[in-house]
Amino acid sequence: MDTIAPRPRRTAFLLLVIPLTLLLIFGCTVQVHDRPTNPIPPEVPSRKDGSGYKSEHVFIVVMDGVRYSETFGDPTHRFIPHLYHDLRPQGTLFTHYHNRGVTVTRQGHSTLISGTWQTVPNGGPRLTRPTLFEYYRDEKRAPSTKGWSVFAKGPYAFEPYSSHPAYGSRYAGRHVHGGRQGDGLTENTPEGDVTVLNRVIEVMKTDQPDIVFINFGHTDHVGHVAKNIGEYHAAIRNCDEQMWKLWNAIQSDHHYRNTTTVFFTNDHGRHTHDFHSHGDHCEGCEHIMLLVLGPDIKKGTVIEREALQIDVATTAGELMGLQTPLATGRTLAECLTYYLELNRKEARTEAAHRALYLEQLADRNLIKAAADYVLATTKPEGVAANLIGEVLLRGMIHGQSETKEPRHLQFVQRWIDVHKHAKAIEQKAILGKVILELPSAVRKPYMDMAVQIGDRMLASPPDFADENDALIGGIFLGRLSEVTKRPRYEEPGLRMIKASLRQPDPKRPTDIEKAYELFLLGQAAALFRDDITVMKAYILTAAKALNRMKEDGALWDDPLVSVLDLCGIEASTRRGAMREFTQRREHDALPACVEAMTQQEMRALFPDRPRAPLRNLQNQLVQLIWERGKQGFPFSLDMLRYGVNEAGAYGNGSPAAQGGFLLSFKRLDWRYGGNTWPGPDSGKRP
Ligand SMILES: [Zn+2]
Ligand SMILES: [Zn+2]
Ligand SMILES: [Zn+2]
Repeated sequence: MDTIAPRPRRTAFLLLVIPLTLLLIFGCTVQVHDRPTNPIPPEVPSRKDGSGYKSEHVFIVVMDGVRYSETFGDPTHRFIPHLYHDLRPQGTLFTHYHNRGVTVTRQGHSTLISGTWQTVPNGGPRLTRPTLFEYYRDEKRAPSTKGWSVFAKGPYAFEPYSSHPAYGSRYAGRHVHGGRQGDGLTENTPEGDVTVLNRVIEVMKTDQPDIVFINFGHTDHVGHVAKNIGEYHAAIRNCDEQMWKLWNAIQSDHHYRNTTTVFFTNDHGRHTHDFHSHGDHCEGCEHIMLLVLGPDIKKGTVIEREALQIDVATTAGELMGLQTPLATGRTLAECLTYYLELNRKEARTEAAHRALYLEQLADRNLIKAAADYVLATTKPEGVAANLIGEVLLRGMIHGQSETKEPRHLQFVQRWIDVHKHAKAIEQKAILGKVILELPSAVRKPYMDMAVQIGDRMLASPPDFADENDALIGGIFLGRLSEVTKRPRYEEPGLRMIKASLRQPDPKRPTDIEKAYELFLLGQAAALFRDDITVMKAYILTAAKALNRMKEDGALWDDPLVSVLDLCGIEASTRRGAMREFTQRREHDALPACVEAMTQQEMRALFPDRPRAPLRNLQNQLVQLIWERGKQGFPFSLDMLRYGVNEAGAYGNGSPAAQGGFLLSFKRLDWRYGGNTWPGPDSGKRP
């Protein structure tokens, strides 16, 4: 592993070459207002160890949701007297600074702190790339108290650490957000922003953090709810006051004075023609402010060259002598009095090396790699007609729908040919299920076979020894009814499923057994979503799984458990079986299947709340599915890609793991209101 070599002091070199270079590159775009910048840096870098900038601390401070036209773009600057008259002369102002993302709060803050376009909706999943906090704690071996985020807005606005498998919670900083009772942190009142300031000053004293990320949220809130624009302007004026006080607090604290760079910025603007909202690509939404002040920042300088929201994290890294290997922004060298090129985005730690390696792997065509891996390692003859075989074969069918490569489907056809004379009814049910999953054009020649299996099951209902087999048989009949549009299979199918659910399993099943059960119950729920017994069994099993979902990475400990759980949950969402949960609005009645759940069932699900009333637990169950599903699920699908190795093997490469990956993986292209589950949250304001 590389280490950071101390940089030799090249005083004369820096004194001459860097200003000259900067002059050459930016000379034509740098405009100087009020007073000229020093042609020569006043001092050479003099950090204590002589190897970097004077900045030892970075503050990124957000005035939420304000247009440039109401800050520095307003020729009168009447709402930001302090930022304009007191602070601007001491720093560098970027006049063409843009958020080119989706211009909502969650995205803006995630982008600022990660240096990547995190086009996630509010209340959406975690960031997918590491935050500055994570880079810092990893590379500098800093404790969590050295990174702090203080937010007026509630948890929907920001997640303080990423899901990246190489980083994540173990490198998280400290975080406090608004929306809770009693502590005064809120976006709803001007006092909320005052409370934010006081909390920041408090942690500056107690923890002396090096990276501080601050959200003043009232401006955006008022923008959404104000009857007249004057209220919104007053909120900007109030925030300007808090920012000025923050700057003074930094200057009067000997730990921070002269060693702190502050970025005053916005997460997004507001519509050019309607200040009430934001979220698109209009000038008002994208054009925002960036004023940078600090011991290494040029004073009284105005820069017209375009800067982007992704550039802040990279620049902060540069000032801290920190690598931000996955960040895509550039260092805003034009605002630095000297540019040392410390942040080369190099991997200098184990986590960083692993992160880059994983990114390389994850960028490939994973579905094809994984399906090819199956062809290279498995013969259809060797795949048994059981649940594991079914996972693999369905995976290959789904994989082929993505790859469009006939050989991926031929694997399945060959398997059917090999197993078409299977005798045992359990095997026949699997055979039938696989046939029904084939694309309709390919399925046709096999349909007689599927119907024969179904008719045989109707003529002499099998006495399944294993409850999973009964479940499989019932799902097959339900699906057969759906595909053939012959209702006669439906009722016996439902009966078979219900029989399998009647006896609670006395043995304690393993996580994998539970995951297979969820895999099947999700399919059953999709077929019989109006049946309370089926839905209840499914929801209870899904909730147990979601309870065990890891918060970051949003997967389960075992890769196989992860893909099977995801397959089960996704199967149920496909046909709207979860609509009562996903379209839930506050004060709605509980879904019928939850209403039907008993005290005993709820207690088993939430053992840490032994005394809570039944209704509270039922609400908690709905909340669990709503939140974990919404935030964790789409995101988990995306995270699966980090589990595939160079050869195309997911997890341990076993048939079930491989099939589960092929069946569930989706490369998600995050868009506002896009691939979230259950979709755009219209109840929550951006
Ligand atoms: Zn915002
Ligand atoms: Zn707009
Ligand atoms: Zn907003």
